[in-house]
Amino acid sequence: METRQMLIDGEWTEAQDGGLLDDINPANREVMCRFPAGRAADVDRAVAAARRAFDGAWGQTPGPERGEMLRRMAAILESRADELGRLETEDMGKPLTHARDGDVPGAAASLRYFAGLADKIEGTALAAPAGYVGYGLREPFGVVGCIVPWNFPLSIACIKVAPALAAGNATILKPSSNSPRTALELGVIGLEAGLPAGALNVVTGLGSEAGAALAAHHDVGKVSFTGSTEAGRALIHASAGNIKKLTLELGGKTPNIILPDADLDLALPAAARTIFLNSGQICTAGSRLVVQRAMKAEILERLVAIAESLPVGDPMSPDTKLGPLVSEEQFERVSRYVAAGREEGARLITGGGRPDDPELADGWYFAPTIFDEVTADMTICREEIFGPVLCVQEYGDVDEAVAIANDCDYGLAADIWTTDLDRAHTLAARLEAGIVWVNCTNVVGPWMSYGGHKHSGLGVESGVEGLHEFTRLKTVIMDVSGRPNTWVWD
Ligand code: NAD
Repeated sequence: METRQMLIDGEWTEAQDGGLLDDINPANREVMCRFPAGRAADVDRAVAAARRAFDGAWGQTPGPERGEMLRRMAAILESRADELGRLETEDMGKPLTHARDGDVPGAAASLRYFAGLADKIEGTALAAPAGYVGYGLREPFGVVGCIVPWNFPLSIACIKVAPALAAGNATILKPSSNSPRTALELGVIGLEAGLPAGALNVVTGLGSEAGAALAAHHDVGKVSFTGSTEAGRALIHASAGNIKKLTLELGGKTPNIILPDADLDLALPAAARTIFLNSGQICTAGSRLVVQRAMKAEILERLVAIAESLPVGDPMSPDTKLGPLVSEEQFERVSRYVAAGREEGARLITGGGRPDDPELADGWYFAPTIFDEVTADMTICREEIFGPVLCVQEYGDVDEAVAIANDCDYGLAADIWTTDLDRAHTLAARLEAGIVWVNCTNVVGPWMSYGGHKHSGLGVESGVEGLHEFTRLKTVIMDVSGRPNTWVWD
């Protein structure tokens, strides 16, 4: 069996203590390869290498050249789309068509977008009083960490690594232990594109070991993290030692509000897509369907028909819409939530466990699942399930719909379906969410800033603001008058 190595200082290396982890295919439970179980000593090596790169060749690489390297990375990535798509599918179970035709081009788009900004990192001229000149500079932190989950391993890695490098930081990428291989390939691609040794390091390992060590490291100025709210809280504690700057993209429980005037031919296929795409393992999945009482019966009848028609199966097949969940742990987690939904009185109207197909018995497959009669006090309504489970809540008037939507600790995204855009505009302002999609859902790209409110996060990713999150401001004030300084603040 293949044993992979991780990338530190431009060299492929094992973990210092030789530890290894298994990379398991969730479609058939086959161990595909082993990879290093990096720990604190390996993070120390990577941080030291990154610091050397920042103080040396990488720190002296001007913005236009950094941009060129990122563009080259995008081109190499695209030329290897088939292979990268396959690795992603084998690692975490999403359909190959989605990985190859969606995630890989998305990752390349992030690299290109931030390549274009690498030579446009501008400061400000301050309105200083007479006799002074003042300006603000945006400079890199030095060494930054990027910690990535398993649901979109390559595209989330690029959403972070691209602006980190564009801004001139030396970077340590820590992928999820469920999905290490495309991150390791990104390391290969970075070297091929000309990144100097240490500019991009890839340290694999467990979150509780490699991730925690990166989050706590005193020479890491910033960590950009995507993952669960629970791990986000751990990062806030771990970062206290050196007052590390954090961007946190955390969990969600997106309400999908269908207003009475919505075009149901558009809204219902989208309602199914937002919760069942990637087998529900999307932070912005529309997991709470908020429907008007009078329309509920029609909507549910149509949604159940869509859910039951979705092909669940081998993620390598071009017809598959839902592959397996990422791991046994995730399968158990989703199963526990379904049991809690039943116990607490929600009405299961389709799905609820493994699909019947005996051919799928070896993988962590879960059928599209819908619960009706869900109320705000139920566990399945309050907590993020991260699986293909839709909770249906009903409202009487729009005020009640807003109250239901906002009655949640999370505030990542919200969906609205209506043909009245004036109403959509008013409603968007009332929803507690970092992103509001109107008559669409899960539209994302490097061109838009993206970040959660409430327990869903801190800071933003993507867009120009996403680049700025990888810089720190420095204010410079010069007295150009030549007069002596006084004891009075002036
Ligand atoms: P996770 O929190 O278990 O792990 C995410 C990453 O953090 C992994 O690389 C893991 O190894 C690492 N990690 C775990 N504990 C850590 C710690 N204490 N210190 C440092 N690193 C640690 O999340 P997951 O199961 O991989 O991904 C699913 C979660 O990610 C869901 O909650 C989902 O909503 C969230 N997510 C959010 C967004 C967003 O943009 N808001 C996008 C995708 C996924």
